[in-house]
Amino acid sequence: MPDYDTQTLRDWDRRHIWHPFTQMKEWEESEPVVIVEGDGSWIVDSEGNRYLDGVAAIWTNVHGHCRHEINEALKAQVDRLEHSTLLGLTNDKAAVLAKRLAEITPSGLCKVFYSDNGSTAVEVGVKMAFQFWRHEGQPEKSRFISFTSAYHGDTLGAVSVGGIDLFHGVFRPLLFPTIQAPAPYCYRCPMGRGTPAACGMECLAELERIMESHAGEVAGLVIEPLVQGAGGMIVQPEGFLRGVRELCDRHDILMIADEVAVGFGRTGAMFACGREGITPDIMALSKGITAGYMPLAATLATQRVYDAFLGEYREMKTFFHGHTFTGNPLGCAVALASLDLFESDRLLEKLPKKINKLKEKLQGLIELGHVGDVRQCGMVAAVELVRDRATKEPFAWEERVGVRVCQEARTHGVFLRPLGNVIVIFPPLAITVEEIDFLVDGLAKSIRTVT
Ligand code: PLP
Repeated sequence: MPDYDTQTLRDWDRRHIWHPFTQMKEWEESEPVVIVEGDGSWIVDSEGNRYLDGVAAIWTNVHGHCRHEINEALKAQVDRLEHSTLLGLTNDKAAVLAKRLAEITPSGLCKVFYSDNGSTAVEVGVKMAFQFWRHEGQPEKSRFISFTSAYHGDTLGAVSVGGIDLFHGVFRPLLFPTIQAPAPYCYRCPMGRGTPAACGMECLAELERIMESHAGEVAGLVIEPLVQGAGGMIVQPEGFLRGVRELCDRHDILMIADEVAVGFGRTGAMFACGREGITPDIMALSKGITAGYMPLAATLATQRVYDAFLGEYREMKTFFHGHTFTGNPLGCAVALASLDLFESDRLLEKLPKKINKLKEKLQGLIELGHVGDVRQCGMVAAVELVRDRATKEPFAWEERVGVRVCQEARTHGVFLRPLGNVIVIFPPLAITVEEIDFLVDGLAKSIRTVT
């Protein structure tokens, strides 16, 4: 139990914490739930209420909260070394983890650049790609293609390659301009078509037109593989990612895969790129890398990208980028313990059963009056609520339907977060099939009550 009573903690929070992505005027008038414990798929508040963690501690948790094996690895590491630096030194855990990441990521990614969150992992990738072409003698290749509704984080470089105006609009004057390609949001097809089968993925053809019209100018393309997360869990049609890889090859553009949200098993495979059999030139990882325990990130690159940075110091080919907690041994030790658990728990082998269970349960939601679309990719799903199913007219933003559904879900013991009118299902991968029942049943009741 916490050292202070709930009201005191709420009061100190309201007085002193500025919460992310939160209208604080509203928050100050609320009675925040104070989480004090985690236990498997559950989080527990200061009054002893248990909530099934339907967002996996904001898309990070893999093996459940407070896994004994990870706790032990962290305790052992903290008694040996809490931090040193990768400036002029290395450390054992960072070295072992880099080797293992190179082994498990798509073949060809062999160099690991550490940082500490998803935004920096992407930012590093963008800077690497930009500098790469300077060393290759093609400095005119300096622009980036990204997708509408893309989300790559909140530092300025990551925001620049993002495409969610609600989050990014106000910062536009601070950002570098990018070239935006239409996201394959099939429920609201940007090309005005129906299903991918009917359209033959016209959005890929459009991407190629965009590449042609910027021939010789583009350094890299940034993509969230298989699922665009914060943009609304937009699930890409099968083959789209492979098509993007082919186009990047044809136009000699570096492909930067942002697997911050989907890496480490979320889509049913260890990495989303692996599901389509592709290797990006650069890959950004964070969140699930430590199974939700510690802030750690890694940007992986191919030998080709890395080699472009080699030279005499005076040639100024060094990658001048780094963060204080780069390669932090606590984070790396936890990441290694998590990789061990993937193996000892045979986590990936167990996923198909859970994925099918989730699929079967989602079928029940499709029938509900205001459910416009239900989409799923592995262990991530989204339910898009609409005012009118026939016209796909969305609920107005001010109605806060998504927020109200998630509030209601708490009364059924489920913690969820919306993305506008989209309810996200993103539980720890260790969730049991019985807990999947509980989660989706709680969501169904909440949708019925609110809409
Ligand atoms: N990239 C993707 C795909 C994400 O979903 C996120 C966060 O949700 C980020 C990058 C940014 O990660 P962080 O919040 O750790 O900076």
